Amino acid sequence: MATLQINNLHAKVAEEGGETILRGVDLTVDSGEIHALMGPNGSGKSTTAKIIAGHPAYEVTDGQITLALDDEDVADVDEDVPAAKREWDLLDLEPNERAALGIFLGFQYPAEIEGVTMTNFLRQALNAKAEEREELFEDEDEDEADADADEEESGYDTSPMEGEADDGEIGVAEFQQLLKEKMELLDMDEKFAQRYLNAGFSGGEKKQNEVLQAAILEPSIAVLDEIDSGLDIDRLQDVSKGINALRDEQGTGVLQITHYQRVLDYVEPDVVHIMLDGEVVMEGDADLAVQLEDNGYDWVREQVYETA
Ligand code: ADP
Ligand code: MG
Ligand code: MG
Repeated sequence: MATLQINNLHAKVAEEGGETILRGVDLTVDSGEIHALMGPNGSGKSTTAKIIAGHPAYEVTDGQITLALDDEDVADVDEDVPAAKREWDLLDLEPNERAALGIFLGFQYPAEIEGVTMTNFLRQALNAKAEEREELFEDEDEDEADADADEEESGYDTSPMEGEADDGEIGVAEFQQLLKEKMELLDMDEKFAQRYLNAGFSGGEKKQNEVLQAAILEPSIAVLDEIDSGLDIDRLQDVSKGINALRDEQGTGVLQITHYQRVLDYVEPDVVHIMLDGEVVMEGDADLAVQLEDNGYDWVREQVYETA
């Protein structure tokens, strides 16, 4: 089980005299759980998500974000993974390193990239993650020994098996199979994958794409910011089904950021966190979201500030 832990996070806009936005966010998400992060507009939800990803627009002024990994989370890594590589300080890492450790945020790619199909884009993303992951977990002490061993072995035929790409990359055929499985899992039309990246995709299709990316990359923790916004009811149900599948079929922990309770009718959260003015001020189970629906954020404000 992986645990993403945000501790007393304070952050400001990264410029001279930039506005303080986060004032002590505390939040813990375990893989295999669905968490809803709710709050009124401007409370700092998206900023929290972007800082988890390593967005350069913000400067962290206090607090930590850590990711703890157990055996299961590093089962794909060839090396013995020492204790030092099981607890990561995410704020010290580049965005692509965070992704390689198993944090997913919807890709910040341009709306449309001419001539790149979804399939190619996803395969490249998966290969880039695998390569970065190998580097992060590499045992530095053994590098020299490995280089010697490679030299010795160079006399042997190391050509890759048919359908497999060289240097550990997932090949085209193998990837097609993976994609097919994931699209079945999410109940998506196969034709989808042949389309060019986001070209002419509806708002709903872009959201479904985001879930597909998470299904392909199999992150430990996926952060989905307002994935429910602007969806009609059918599309909302499709996307919700996909989010549940991420948790149920691959044990992903989901931090679902949403303004409205509506999506939570379909994706029942294990934990609900409520943000107000740059802090998480309330936590509870799924009932809290229902209470919020009935009483609104003013009720939260009253609870928090009038009992203080
Ligand atoms: P939410 O997602 O909860 O609606 P945000 O995290 O997007 O809220 O924003 C929180 C507050 O921080 C808002 O008042 C917003 O205007 C401000 N803010 C966020 N990002 C920036 C930025 N890059 N520059 C200036 N102000 C920002
Ligand atoms: Mg706090
Ligand atoms: Mg937002």
